[in-house]
Amino acid sequence: MELAQVIVDVPAMQTDQPFTYLIPSQMAVEPGMRVEVSFGSRHVQGFVVATETSKEAPAENLKPIIRMLDIAPVLNQELLVLADYMKEKTFAFKITCLQTMLPSVMKADYQKRFYAVEEGQVPELFKGQPSITWEEVEAQGQLKEMAKLREAGIVELRYEVYTKNKIKTERYIKRLFPVEQLEALKAEVRKGSYKQLQLLDFLAELAEDQLLSVKQMKAEDFSLANLNQARDKGWLAFEAVEQYRDPFLEKEVAQTQAFLLNPQQQAAYEAIHEKIVEQQHDVFLLEGVTGSGKTEVYLQTIADVLAQGQTAMMLVPEISLTPQMATRFKSRFGDEVAVLHSGLSQGEKYDEWRKLERGEARVVVGARSAVFAPLKQVGIIIVDEEHETTYKQEETPRYHARDLAIWRGAYHHCPVVLGSATPSLESRARAQKSVYQLLTISERANQQSQLPAVEIIDMREEMQRRLTSSFSEKLEAKLRDRLAKGEQSVLLLNRRGYSSFVMCRDCGYVLPCPNCDISLTLHMDTKTMRCHYCGHEENIPHRCPNCGKDKIRYYGTGTEKVLEELEELIPEARVLRMDVDTTRRKGAHEKILDAFGNREADILLGTQMIAKGLDFPNVTLVGVLNADTALNLPDFRSSERTFQLLTQVSGRAGRGEKPGEVLIQTFNPEHYAIQLAQHHDYEGFYRMEMGIRHQTDYPPYYYTVKVTVSHQEELRAAQKAYQLAEQLKRELSPKSILLGPTTGAILRIKNRYYYQMVIKYKQEPQLHAALERILQESQKDQRQGLLIAIDNEPMYFI
Ligand code: ADP
Ligand code: ZN
Repeated sequence: MELAQVIVDVPAMQTDQPFTYLIPSQMAVEPGMRVEVSFGSRHVQGFVVATETSKEAPAENLKPIIRMLDIAPVLNQELLVLADYMKEKTFAFKITCLQTMLPSVMKADYQKRFYAVEEGQVPELFKGQPSITWEEVEAQGQLKEMAKLREAGIVELRYEVYTKNKIKTERYIKRLFPVEQLEALKAEVRKGSYKQLQLLDFLAELAEDQLLSVKQMKAEDFSLANLNQARDKGWLAFEAVEQYRDPFLEKEVAQTQAFLLNPQQQAAYEAIHEKIVEQQHDVFLLEGVTGSGKTEVYLQTIADVLAQGQTAMMLVPEISLTPQMATRFKSRFGDEVAVLHSGLSQGEKYDEWRKLERGEARVVVGARSAVFAPLKQVGIIIVDEEHETTYKQEETPRYHARDLAIWRGAYHHCPVVLGSATPSLESRARAQKSVYQLLTISERANQQSQLPAVEIIDMREEMQRRLTSSFSEKLEAKLRDRLAKGEQSVLLLNRRGYSSFVMCRDCGYVLPCPNCDISLTLHMDTKTMRCHYCGHEENIPHRCPNCGKDKIRYYGTGTEKVLEELEELIPEARVLRMDVDTTRRKGAHEKILDAFGNREADILLGTQMIAKGLDFPNVTLVGVLNADTALNLPDFRSSERTFQLLTQVSGRAGRGEKPGEVLIQTFNPEHYAIQLAQHHDYEGFYRMEMGIRHQTDYPPYYYTVKVTVSHQEELRAAQKAYQLAEQLKRELSPKSILLGPTTGAILRIKNRYYYQMVIKYKQEPQLHAALERILQESQKDQRQGLLIAIDNEPMYFI
């Protein structure tokens, strides 16, 4: 008798205990597959975590597995064990951890189909067709057979989004009339045809040759009939645009050769190389100034790993960085590279995931969730820009990809390299204590390139000269100078503190979200107001809902506003803007960066996303418009963030032969984070900030955990929070500190009220169990709408 241990997914009754089910003889069930089982009176999904053969008579109430949802494991043995570690670290239920590790295409309900791999070898079951659905095979009780055929490479299981060999096209529209004709065309429109007038206005706002998908037009509330009419009138044309699956099909990647390493690079390389050869686990912190050639060290160590027949994982913090990094990797390792990030379509992601699973690609370059890539025999794991907060997932399970990367490194007995020009204090402190091995590169790799000179501009003085400008006189002069020399500039605008909104100029009313305590954000691309927390969306009002006057004014995003200013100030400069609004579309990041790299623009203006990784030799000036916004956040990491951001963005200047220069505009010129960033002094910053953290009892001197309680009634949330605080205080040793309870940074989100508390501790052997218990018990309250969330080592306290 074959038995399976199954972790089931039963909302509000979660447990990490597996349940035993009988495996019917026609099923081939293995650990790491998903199955459907009955639980109480319902049918639920579950993960098989173990199987066993038993000789005893079956217990009477033992139920059989109802259906198989996979025919091969979707999670391998390593990932099943990793789920246990992740659960420990994040206080999430095991089922949540297991689900998180799956590629998203498998989580969704896509149709599954079996395809014959070769035309000549179509199995009988297919009845001559090239493919057959999962359901048909299942109905005929042939899943076990199909699993064997798949194993033998005769059939392939694909998800319905898989459209190999078929070029998918999407329909786009393009405006045909010149903008000057807008009024004339509107005059011709029949009276009362509001939709057509709207459409004309909308089209007039598109840039010349700008393509917009029909899908987007529908989202703008223009029907296909509207568009067809407009085409008949000659206002617009349709165009079919190919949608590629392979993220690299569009690009020719030229092969590059390894550089001869300089002595510091060589020393770092050798230390890592030794562990690779010995197949020994160790964690390195590679601290190298911007442009010091860390990436070259990564590439050469990975080459060794591949030569040894092993695989490699390279994590990068953000999707905006992945294309550049992936290109560098492709140029060295060609088809061995698979790319995983959220900018890919579901189909693309599945393709990349399968390449890795089959071992057709042995290097993965990807963002946070790529830490779950199905690699076998891993020889090295690299976490680039290890200090980045995007490595931490901000929803359940709240895992940190760096932690999991280190765990996988230990599992595979291989080195893990954490790289950064500005390591997190946590990692740097571990290196100080020799928990990690510190490797340092203090000079830029490129002989001719020096770290840029940084100048601080006191905006308090500047304000007296030009009251409302975002640009100091000096910055303007330098921008003009670069323009004259044909060199390029990068301008950073701190995103925080800026979001676009509408306000009544008469009464000052700002449109709030009906469900959250936050104002709605203006989206010019869709001409709507949207809540970033709950997704509520409404039209922009013509009159103020508060006073009724028509004095509504738009306050655009920081970048939009600054772009306008810049165009007025230096009209001859060609400017590219890069922020959330201009990069929403797939591939938009790459397009902007490629255009800038090809010198199609003089200035790149953007938010945080331009601060990191960019390597453009013709950039000789970096301007930071507002260094202070991050400093003013009420968070204990705000100085660290500011220092990191300024150092990172400064690193974009002077990467080629021409020397670079950085101007930092600030209202706090004396602040140590700004002063030390000016001198590229990471060590100085580390010592200073550690002193402050020590005095104020913050990480890395203390561990932290945040407990959040929410309910639809504020009183219930508050009561529970105070009750939990009392309970926890009784369990904590006197040396630990409990902050709060306080209200969340935003009290109400999606009509739920949030209260939270933070525990700071050095040693609390009982705490983990106590929190686990609180979570288990909270499931009773869940039916009354009370939710408790635990965030281990939170990124933000507020
Ligand atoms: P980092 O990752 O530390 O920011 P990069 O790896 O991007 O640095 O290197 C910065 C620049 O120096 C790149 O243009 C790279 O091609 C070049 N470079 C790296 N190593 C060497 C070397 N040993 N000799 C010459 N140029 C190098
Ligand atoms: Zn909302």
